[in-house]
Order: sequence, then structure tokens, then C-alpha cells
Amino acid sequence: MVETERFKQQLLHLKVELEEQQLDNESADKPIELDQARLGRLSRMDALQGQQMLQELARRQRAKLLAIDAALRRIEAGDYGDCFVCAEPIDPRRLTVDPTATRCVSCVDG
Ligand SMILES: [Zn+2]
Repeated sequence: MVETERFKQQLLHLKVELEEQQLDNESADKPIELDQARLGRLSRMDALQGQQMLQELARRQRAKLLAIDAALRRIEAGDYGDCFVCAEPIDPRRLTVDPTATRCVSCVDG
């Protein structure tokens, strides 16, 4: 049984943070503080500079917001935490790292 309420709170928190970051991006050109733990793969882009990186970050933030909304809808629908591919429950540890995950570890790797 997936603890959906905990993940729901986590998703809502993530959403607020992302929305605040988006406002920052639009209003200022100060360096962005990447949250390595949360954004994960973005750390590979550390070498990239300037506008291209900002555009990519904004694109990823929009995609993440869509993923968060989709995850929240799955919670409301009662099918949150099931793998899209094999329909097995996704490991809660994986959901803790990324509550928008839609596939279990084996389906992502495979
Ligand atoms: Zn699976």
C-alpha cells in the first residue's frame, strides 16, 4: 500500500517550489541555484552556460509541473504508484526520490 497522502504533500510542495523558481527566472538573471538532490540529471548540465541552460531549465520545470499535476490526478483517481508498463506497485523508496515516477525500476531500465 502506497502512502499516497505523504506523496501528495511532497508533490504539492514540489509544485510550489517550482512555481516560485519560475517566477525567479522570469524576473531576474541572477545565477540559478540548482537543487542537486531534486533536479538530479540537471547536474550534468553544470558545464553549460547562459541562455541555453536557462531555457532548458525552464523547459524541464514545465515538464516537471505537468508530471506533478499528472501524479496528483493519479492520487485523486486512486491509481497512484502503479507502474505504467507492468502495473506492479512502484517501490515507495523510488517514489520518495521522485514522486512523479510512472514506471518501476525494472521497466525504466528495460
Ligand atoms: Zn514496471
